[in-house]
Amino acid sequence: MEEFPLSHEPVLVRARLIFTARGTLLEDGAVEVRRGRIVDLGPYPELKRTFRGRRVDLGEVLLLPALTNAHTHLELSALRFRLTPTGSFITWVRSLIRKRVELSLEDLRQAAAEALDELWQEGVGLLGEVGNTGITLGLLHESPFHAVYFREIIDFRGKSEIKQFLERSSGRRIVYALSPHAPYTVSPVLIQAIKSWTRAKGRPFSIHVAESPEETLFLAEGSGPIRALLEERGQFHPGFEAPGLSPVAYLERLGVLDEHTICVHVVQVTPADLEILARRRIRPCLCPRSNIFLGVGLPPLPQILAAGLKPCLGTDSLASNDRLSVWAEMEALYHAYPEVAPETYLTMATLWGAQALGKRDMGAIEPGYRAEMIAVSGVLKGPEPLRSFIEGPKTVEVRLYAPF
Ligand SMILES: [Zn+2]
Repeated sequence: MEEFPLSHEPVLVRARLIFTARGTLLEDGAVEVRRGRIVDLGPYPELKRTFRGRRVDLGEVLLLPALTNAHTHLELSALRFRLTPTGSFITWVRSLIRKRVELSLEDLRQAAAEALDELWQEGVGLLGEVGNTGITLGLLHESPFHAVYFREIIDFRGKSEIKQFLERSSGRRIVYALSPHAPYTVSPVLIQAIKSWTRAKGRPFSIHVAESPEETLFLAEGSGPIRALLEERGQFHPGFEAPGLSPVAYLERLGVLDEHTICVHVVQVTPADLEILARRRIRPCLCPRSNIFLGVGLPPLPQILAAGLKPCLGTDSLASNDRLSVWAEMEALYHAYPEVAPETYLTMATLWGAQALGKRDMGAIEPGYRAEMIAVSGVLKGPEPLRSFIEGPKTVEVRLYAPF
């Protein structure tokens, strides 16, 4: 992959096809960039007539916004290939807890740095990163990525003081936010306190929800393997009474669902849950390859879209995935739901991810947006070039980015 760091000078970039993520596919298109921002977009023969400056022809490629990976845990990258997909969610959680303590902070940092490099090569420009130690926050600050860093809180007994997680450097490129892990690992009051802090700061809030049948059982009845695991680890709260609700309905009752809430997974959802999520205008983040790895099923994408939701994509961690590839996530869903338009998959992987993370000037190719773009070669033929593109092999040839 060739890197194209943009300077402040004007440049006109031409490509065979441009996917804007705003419903337009431009043939023989061009993008004019100044000071790292897109200033114009249109047919190349037209734009080149009036443009004065450097011209770059990227050739037979699809130019699209850099991808958004809206849900990662880079800190777990050292666990790649160390956990077996057994088809049981709770067996995986147990082995994750066991294997993680065997690793030093330096192991975690090293593997996370390699994973970041892999994401860059895959064409990702924006990340929703979830971390427990803060090491990946440091790595992100040193990297060319844009990101929201979610400091994750796990505490079902609700003993934590939220103060201890508040921070730190939130900048233009890296935004600091908080995330309660899941409805079954964080006490209800703490989930509400975290939401209240992120709401006051205008930052996104992310939570894993409706991932496994075990989670559904625990919130419905307070029993099952999750209850057993919490008790075993001394994490169960004796005063906890199962709400008798679905995970989504439970979060609705806690008052934490709104357009700044990212609900990660949404696999175990009923039509009534989808109705709640749509009414609250939350952002679903789908991680299908992690779901397959853990044997929990797949998110019902056609129903999610029919409800009017705008899902984005995440790879989750290398503890439940063998690759950090948004392309592979798209392909997994496309394989399951070929009836969903290829444009929708590409929008999920770009604009809807950026919107979920609150980055209002990323994820699309249109005037005013940051010129974070990738040129990808692949199969671009027939009346539906994006369909052959999604189905076929792809290579990120060039990435354009503003290092300022
Ligand atoms: Zn996750």
